[in-house]
Amino acid sequence: MKKEQKRYYFDYAATTPVDKRVLKAMKPYFSDNFANPSSIHTPGMDASEAVESSRKIIANYLGATPSEIFFTSSATESNNWALKGIAATAKGDKKKIIISPIEHHCVLNTAKYLKKMGFEIVETPVDKEGIVDVEKLKELVDDKTLLVSIMHSNNEMGTIEPIKEIGKICDDKNVTFHTDAVQSYGKMPLNVNEMNVDLLTASSHKIYGPKGTAILYIRGGTQIEALLHGGGQESDKRSSTLNVPGIVGFRKATEICVKEMKKEWKKQSKLRDKITKYIKEKIPNSHLNGPALGKPRLCNNVNVRFDFIEGESLLMDLDSHGIAVSTSSACSSPKLEASHVLTALGISKGDAHGTIRITIGRFTSEKDVKYFLTTLEKSVTKLRVMSPLNTRNC
Ligand code: PLP
Repeated sequence: MKKEQKRYYFDYAATTPVDKRVLKAMKPYFSDNFANPSSIHTPGMDASEAVESSRKIIANYLGATPSEIFFTSSATESNNWALKGIAATAKGDKKKIIISPIEHHCVLNTAKYLKKMGFEIVETPVDKEGIVDVEKLKELVDDKTLLVSIMHSNNEMGTIEPIKEIGKICDDKNVTFHTDAVQSYGKMPLNVNEMNVDLLTASSHKIYGPKGTAILYIRGGTQIEALLHGGGQESDKRSSTLNVPGIVGFRKATEICVKEMKKEWKKQSKLRDKITKYIKEKIPNSHLNGPALGKPRLCNNVNVRFDFIEGESLLMDLDSHGIAVSTSSACSSPKLEASHVLTALGISKGDAHGTIRITIGRFTSEKDVKYFLTTLEKSVTKLRVMSPLNTRNC
């Protein structure tokens, strides 16, 4: 990275910078009080108190009780645990797991693994905006269904799923329901009881907290096997020494998000719509992927497709101007494969390749957006002139 170049970050869905207030809260737990919270000496008990007060704050936001919050190392771990942990309790022929085709790879690939282990994996369809077909899901849930796992909102397109309705279906049929709420957590109110969810995943590094800390909410009474066995931490459900600075950081990040939620949603939605409208009006042959303008969508997400150019070329050109965007979800970008989310929406692989994901956040300013939009317009025009795909010279 060129040192002197100002950077413009438009990839908040991949990860966020640690907020300085979060860093300040974490600092004492690295070298001053570094004790193991399982130790029963005074520093150990202080560390344990920091963990327990964090559990309480996170539980409060979710409408859960502290004993239902389990700290993990990542959302990938939490999602693996939710699926494999429930699968391990399966009895008889109750072996059907329902997911959507637009889940994050850590759910999709865990489901793939469970299929090899003899589970039946069923993908319930989504419409062209990425919304799960609730009626179809209702038909699919039967007495062989062990688990339903549907994400709260999509990381690529910002589609918000009808989680309350899905939760009601699962509750009525007595089926365990998991939601990956990584992209919604901290952006909007979430209440596990109103949503009827039994398991919920969230991750600290998506909300201005540190990487390497996440949670799995597990409703009291849910039968689930541990993924990690060892010293018996986290009520013997998730062994491993607790990451105290990370957990304290997650707590502080949650507190700030909850306090600033309304203000941030309003500010970011406004910028999101400004970006969407500008692209629609000024850049011909561009298409918004996912929910149409004005429909419910995460406040920070714009996913757009440009005819006649490759998303990767656009990403590189923007990068040379100091702008960071993504072609799809950060973890699958290097594979240069068409996004499974876009193809699930009925977009052809060829068209999907012309897509970029623009995600804004707490530190995005009007000025940043202005620079981004004028640079984007110039880049698209330049790349289209050079593109062999552009036989119409648009
Ligand atoms: N689920 C969703 C919806 C995500 O967006 C991500 C990260 O991009 C993950 C899971 C994985 O999160 P982590 O990086 O904490 O493993």
